[in-house]
Amino acid sequence: MTDWDLATDECVEHLRALVRIPSVNPPGLPDGAAGLDSTGGETAAAAYCAEVLGSAGIGAEVLETVPGRGSCFARLPAGVPDPEPPLVLLSHLDVVPVEAEAWSRDPFGAELVDGVVWGRGAVDMKDMTAMELVVMLELHRSGAPLRRDVILAAVADEEAGGLHGALHWVGQRPDLFADAAGRPAAAALNEVGGYSMTVGGRRIYTIQVAEKGIAWTHVRASGTPSHGSMPSPDNAAVKLAGAVTALAAGPRPARVIPVVRRFFEGLGLADAVALAEAGRDGDASAALAAIVGDEVLLRSLEAMLRDTVTPNVIHAGRKVNVVPGSGAAEVDVRTLPGTDQEALVAELQELAGPDVTVEAILVMPPVEWPADTEIVRLMEAALRSADPDAAPLPMMITPGTDAKALALLGIPTYGFAPLRLDPHVPFLSLFHANDERIPVSALGFGLPVLHEVVSRFALADPR
Ligand SMILES: [Zn+2]
Repeated sequence: MTDWDLATDECVEHLRALVRIPSVNPPGLPDGAAGLDSTGGETAAAAYCAEVLGSAGIGAEVLETVPGRGSCFARLPAGVPDPEPPLVLLSHLDVVPVEAEAWSRDPFGAELVDGVVWGRGAVDMKDMTAMELVVMLELHRSGAPLRRDVILAAVADEEAGGLHGALHWVGQRPDLFADAAGRPAAAALNEVGGYSMTVGGRRIYTIQVAEKGIAWTHVRASGTPSHGSMPSPDNAAVKLAGAVTALAAGPRPARVIPVVRRFFEGLGLADAVALAEAGRDGDASAALAAIVGDEVLLRSLEAMLRDTVTPNVIHAGRKVNVVPGSGAAEVDVRTLPGTDQEALVAELQELAGPDVTVEAILVMPPVEWPADTEIVRLMEAALRSADPDAAPLPMMITPGTDAKALALLGIPTYGFAPLRLDPHVPFLSLFHANDERIPVSALGFGLPVLHEVVSRFALADPR
């Protein structure tokens, strides 16, 4: 029998060791890591994982796309004839940069204070890497035969799209995500979902079965350079500003997809869903705001109801006395499952007007996997037995993850980093934020839950 207090301590030590490695993406930025050199951080983090697993006798390797951009792959082999397709325990090792001066504690110090681990990556997502390491170790220590390979893939470069991580390895080495017979994994467990959320006094656990699509879009304007003392209508800055304002004006109409409907109903937000489905978007928003106090959660829920268009970068002009001849904006477009991404970008061109060109430069479709599968039922059962007062609920997240890369191999990837959080923990606000941190109690809850799901899915004879 596993002593889960000891295992949680072990998990916390792996988390702290990983946080101390500044695997900042992009690496090598002068300000990227609070004065630390982050060159090679991803490889250092991958090497840490490989060392932990390798020294326990688990086959593990570090693979790099270029020096410093390393990922760790490890495998517990199936121990039965005719095994089933593998399970992947997926995570990313890179983290986003920090503004160290805005932190209350050293972002790479991994301080453990009053039962909370502080540091970049504590929630996104070295916490899950640490849990997955301990699950691998526990399965190995138990010596129990597996009915499928269990693969740990802790990869680089998720925060920049995965060209040095999941996307690369999926394309170049699909065998890393498959069994000896070449069959891709039956499922993968990954970041974001799994955490608890308390709305209107009811606690639920998110089981992430879907994520929105991406259509990153450029808006370009041109004009005629001339002297700024003689105003001209042919001004790229003015045209661009007008187009961006038009694109950002007002939320797009709501469209309730089935997984979102069930999620809202489970949260006690059925009224808001009914209003949104009746086309009364303003009333739906008011109904949400009346129940949901956490402002970031509220924005997240609003974004689950619609495609979103967010202009985040604007460049035009170089000098105060020169009418600019060109300008460009970058717009973060996120689409619901079922949205025609090409048609949406064409609609944005209409909205932005004839003075600019609107062009999608990176399009990734949404992912959506069935919620009615063995592994999801195992997640629900494990959560229900660990926290009988709370309900597990399938959900869709609005950001993208490496699930999009594994989808290219047809591998259903579920966000399931189980964490029990007190209602006051502003969990969604901690991603990419100053003072990123995680309570040890959340890991102490999640580790046995994750272990239970993996064991039941992978052991030849699960108790
Ligand atoms: Zn992440």
